Amino acid sequence: MIAIIPVRNGVAPIGAAEAACEAGEAFVVGTGTVDVAHELLAYVPTVRYLEHAFRPHELSAVVAAVISAATKKRSVILPGSPDGRDLAPLLALQLGWPLFAGAIEVRADRVRLARLGGTAIEQVQSDGPFVATLIPGVRGATPIAVLTDTNGTVPRKATPRPKQVKRASSESGARTSSDRPPSVDATSLEVLPPDAATMDLSEASRILGGGAGLNNEQRFRQLASVASLLDASMGATRVITDHGWVGHERQIGTTGVVVDPDLYIAFGISGAVQHTSGLGHPQHIISVNTDEHCPMMQLADLAIVADANATLDELATLLSKLAANDGSAFAAPPGTCPAANDGSKIAAMDGSKDGSQIAADFAAPLATTPGASS
Ligand SMILES: Cc1cc2nc3c(=O)[nH]c(=O)nc-3n(C[C@H](O)[C@H](O)[C@H](O)COP(=O)(O)OP(=O)(O)OC[C@H]3O[C@@H](n4cnc5c(N)ncnc54)[C@H](O)[C@@H]3O)c2cc1C
Repeated sequence: MIAIIPVRNGVAPIGAAEAACEAGEAFVVGTGTVDVAHELLAYVPTVRYLEHAFRPHELSAVVAAVISAATKKRSVILPGSPDGRDLAPLLALQLGWPLFAGAIEVRADRVRLARLGGTAIEQVQSDGPFVATLIPGVRGATPIAVLTDTNGTVPRKATPRPKQVKRASSESGARTSSDRPPSVDATSLEVLPPDAATMDLSEASRILGGGAGLNNEQRFRQLASVASLLDASMGATRVITDHGWVGHERQIGTTGVVVDPDLYIAFGISGAVQHTSGLGHPQHIISVNTDEHCPMMQLADLAIVADANATLDELATLLSKLAANDGSAFAAPPGTCPAANDGSKIAAMDGSKDGSQIAADFAAPLATTPGASS
């Protein structure tokens, strides 16, 4: 199998390394491919790359020509990122192969697919090559260096093949311009930076999540506005999406979106496994909860035992001041946090992680509240 990794401007899509690991080999296509090809070498021994303007219809025709020119027909895996989901059906059409979308595991002769919002798993057998998209976050990706470390661990491959990066040619077997269908790709006029408020949650690097500890629908509008002041996206638990307070596309978890942010701040979330298994591997987690023993607090780098509603009010006030005063809100005198005045405390549950840095960046007034205990 081979993973096709669609790349724009040298940025790897979410799930790129996972798709590469699942397939065992990667083919990076798009713009700025060489850097991503080198990044993926940490995960698979052979990576090919092809620099080509990012126009999905055209790109799928070129990639299909390269894949079908190979003597051995190999199934194709794409990451279930927005571009991967866009390219996969075009590629399946060009190749005339079946498309298995939303896979949680891909093998040469069978694919396991998440169905009915993740509540059912369907296994399909295939006796020929196919195209599949792999849901990001379900399989994980381990660098080869870790797997082949012989210091007490078992190497993945008995004799690892030498690593290679190869520039692929679009000439071999590619259609000529005369027999290629006319391009129906849209023309990009301008590429704008993503808006954290509306971007695909799976691509967000900072997420503020809300759960049943936030007491009404209005709290989620407030959470969204605080998130946008922090250039973050808003997510929620299933309890909240079931209430209809937040759209299902904002639900994080096994039956929602699988995310992988650098920073996750959980307001009033218990940390049920169906939620946390969709969280990926955030570098930093902050949790605000009245129950210091709940799973989300145990997972957190910084666990703040406080009323999530009052904390959100305080954060909203401070960030509005910051926005108005160009930075002075974080210099506000300590002791103004109603949550802390209610007798709440701040407890860093895992001292081995860099919770204090996160606190300084995102909750400085809370962290400096007199009487806070750790
Ligand atoms: C098949 C299946 C699939 C599921 N899929 C998903 C999924 O994809 N995503 C998902 O999220 N869930 C999913 N669930 C539901 C999941 O099991 C939990 O029920 C859900 O995640 C709990 O959401 P919660 O943390 O908001 O609510 P609760 O579990 O009710 O937790 C509320 C938390 O808020 C705290 N709290 C209460 N008041 C305050 C306050 N004033 N201030 C601060 N903290 C407070 C409480 O201490 C508690 O920790 C699924 C369940 C099933 C059976």
